[in-house]
Amino acid sequence: MAKLYFRYGAMNSGKSTALLQAAYNYEERGQHVLLAKPAIDTKGASQIESRLGMTREVDFLIGAEDDARALFQRERDRVRGEATAGLLPQEPADVACLLVDEAQFLTPEQVDDLFRIAVEDGIPVLAYGIRNDFLTHAFPGSARLLAIAHTLEELKTICRCGRKAVFNGRRVGDAFVFDGEQVAIDGAAVTYESLCGNCYLQESGGRLS
Ligand SMILES: [Zn+2]
Repeated sequence: MAKLYFRYGAMNSGKSTALLQAAYNYEERGQHVLLAKPAIDTKGASQIESRLGMTREVDFLIGAEDDARALFQRERDRVRGEATAGLLPQEPADVACLLVDEAQFLTPEQVDDLFRIAVEDGIPVLAYGIRNDFLTHAFPGSARLLAIAHTLEELKTICRCGRKAVFNGRRVGDAFVFDGEQVAIDGAAVTYESLCGNCYLQESGGRLS
């Protein structure tokens, strides 16, 4: 049975790099993969960008109101059609895997779509995302993924103090901030730093939410 995987980590834990590497591993074996991400992320528009400098176009963007399974099915049909028409290698003539970046921005319903793609359509889904926001609350997509993914895998990164980072501190300029929208829109001055629990509480003055 195909599974839904959630590979989560703090900011800067190399999620996009890991996703692109996973796609490469499939393709090295001659398999077809599909890449997607929510349309809410304006950082790279329709590209997946790794901090190491690799970029790649997604096959489809998932808008807030979209049926992710229907979008996947359309792309899957395209791959099958191209394989049949001889535009892609005939074998295998199907999609081996769906890779989703920035999965924290999916709606819970779209995460359910991913679950159905794995369980009912038989295609493994690898979702990559951030577990919690700058106020330590789960993103809606992440909360649903943590609840229903078959397999949870943590991508680890290190806090400035050397401990494992689990939180994402938001900075405006040099100062950490603990008020604001979950998703900072076009914040040129907004940056994030992955922090361990100790450093987060130190910066927040003991505030956890
Ligand atoms: Zn720390």
